[in-house]
Amino acid sequence: MSTVNSIDMLSRLVAFPTVSRDSNLPLIDWVEEYLGRFDARCRRTVNAEGTKANLFAAIGPDVPGGVVLSGHTDVVPVDGQDWDTDPFELTERDGLLYGRGTADMKGFAAAFLSRLESLATTAMKKPLYLALSYDEEIGCLGIDRMVDDALAHFARPDFAIIGEPTTMQMVRAHKSINVFRTIVTGKAAHSSQPHRGAGAILAAGRIIEHLEAIGRSRRATAGESGCEPPWTTVQVGTIKGGTAVNILPAQCEFLWEYRGLPDEDPESIIQAMQTFIEREVLPDLREFAPEASIETTPIARVPPLMPDPDAKAERWVRGLSGVRDGGSGEVSFATEAGSFQRRGISSVVCGPGSIDQAHQPNEFIDPAELKRCEAMVDDVFDYLCQ
Ligand SMILES: [Zn+2]
Repeated sequence: MSTVNSIDMLSRLVAFPTVSRDSNLPLIDWVEEYLGRFDARCRRTVNAEGTKANLFAAIGPDVPGGVVLSGHTDVVPVDGQDWDTDPFELTERDGLLYGRGTADMKGFAAAFLSRLESLATTAMKKPLYLALSYDEEIGCLGIDRMVDDALAHFARPDFAIIGEPTTMQMVRAHKSINVFRTIVTGKAAHSSQPHRGAGAILAAGRIIEHLEAIGRSRRATAGESGCEPPWTTVQVGTIKGGTAVNILPAQCEFLWEYRGLPDEDPESIIQAMQTFIEREVLPDLREFAPEASIETTPIARVPPLMPDPDAKAERWVRGLSGVRDGGSGEVSFATEAGSFQRRGISSVVCGPGSIDQAHQPNEFIDPAELKRCEAMVDDVFDYLCQ
């Protein structure tokens, strides 16, 4: 195979329509074959159905102290979006590269995969790890499985760089995402006879009001943070329930979330909610319907990237070429970085392209961003050979 530059590589990756609901296996197969040229030791971890895979590859000696470059392979759908070009064919217009996933986040993978040819694998003193996950866009569902498997089979890395689009600015902390479904089950009755049933919607309303109060209190006590907005946010996204105005509704279901500040324990809000439900709402709901219940189940939990007091990765990445200085280093969008950090790997987020383009129609990346990322990757490679 001839030399591949990052734009050629991006073009290959964008052409795999790896929308989260579909399989990413064709992309994973292609990348694994490509990595074979560099004597990579690859491990796949798959979803329950076997339709999607993470790929974790190790290059170089099997010793501690390596570096992980990590990105997700899935992209968000293009349904209902008005694109001027084919989203799955990389298209250059006015010097910008258009296509789904160019910014979020195949650009990062394109940069590190294309630069592998410059890596002097025989001179490496520490290993390079490449991590490609599935199902990031639907709640970081694949990453934990990959990191656990990697730590069980390879020497422990020191650092992880998660290349989400930050326009190559270093991000050292981000919020958590916590999504839940709550189902309130009461008991139907004629609306003139509320003492013979339990109305699920009014009970749900009390829970939602409590959520709103939590959100308000977080806002009122907000301090300094680079996150926008600088407080933990609470949101109810969907609600359904009831059949007619003269029937006590037997069920009400709502989806809600909170996005916690990096240094806020993500368990604190769900625990407060459970306590409120069990002490305040459930006893009232069961007054005339002992069988009533309120069930809350997690849909997605993405841990925060917490500010690291030692700032190991932060200090190291700050010195790499291509990395921009500036900003507070804290963002509101979540990434897979917390999965590495929770397992003791010092992690930051830094990648090419802008989050402003992510998930948008006509998503693009500026090739200058790819160049910056290549410079960072080259410095990572140098570090591994020192
Ligand atoms: Zn992303």
